[in-house]
Amino acid sequence: TSFAELGIERWLANSLGAMAIRKPTPIQAACIGPILEGKDCIGGSQTGSGKTVAFAAPILQMWAEDPLGVFALILTPTRELALQIAEQFKALGAPQNLKVCLLIGGTDMNEQALSLAARPHIVIATPGRLADHIRSSGEDTICGLRRTRVVVLDEADRMLSETFAEDLEECLSVVPKSGVSGRQTLLFTATVTPEVRALKEMERTNGRRGVF
Ligand code: AMP
Repeated sequence: TSFAELGIERWLANSLGAMAIRKPTPIQAACIGPILEGKDCIGGSQTGSGKTVAFAAPILQMWAEDPLGVFALILTPTRELALQIAEQFKALGAPQNLKVCLLIGGTDMNEQALSLAARPHIVIATPGRLADHIRSSGEDTICGLRRTRVVVLDEADRMLSETFAEDLEECLSVVPKSGVSGRQTLLFTATVTPEVRALKEMERTNGRRGVF
């Protein structure tokens, strides 16, 4: 299969090509079509599998057709992962003037709040830092998130563990609910923990069964 056969448009295939990404990896071949159809999806997240492109490419294509408001929220457990994901989104979205907002620890809260209030297209965050913004910022800052169309839980096994429970709940409280007419949810996980399995069962019953 090629990216074109998976439904990826020319401008995005060109962006991918500029990053020397020409042939889909197995996870990309499995996930891109269903994500473009609006399905929820659970994918394996082994490092080097190409999972970032597996969600970034279809998200950017759907965003390009509907570029108003925050389109996607990507939650990931560490700063390093958030930075890597942001780099890939920026590289792929550059031709379309994509605005990416990165919310991670260790950098200035005020600057981040301004970036979030400026209606970015994609928000990439660690749960702790986004939860801090939700707790401390006014509605003007976070209101863009209220119409988020897609939520990605990267390293979902870790994201759904006790460590992140409280912050994750805070983060998900400001985005639309999952469901047939709500947001689309994409999970990437190295292992299927009981928490991930429970969520998978829930997604199955919401009528938008995904892959894996
Ligand atoms: P990830 O698994 O998302 O951490 O990606 C690992 C690396 O593989 C990144 O540097 C990507 O740029 C690269 N990559 C992703 N998809 C492909 C592909 N289809 N062909 C070649 N390299 C890729």
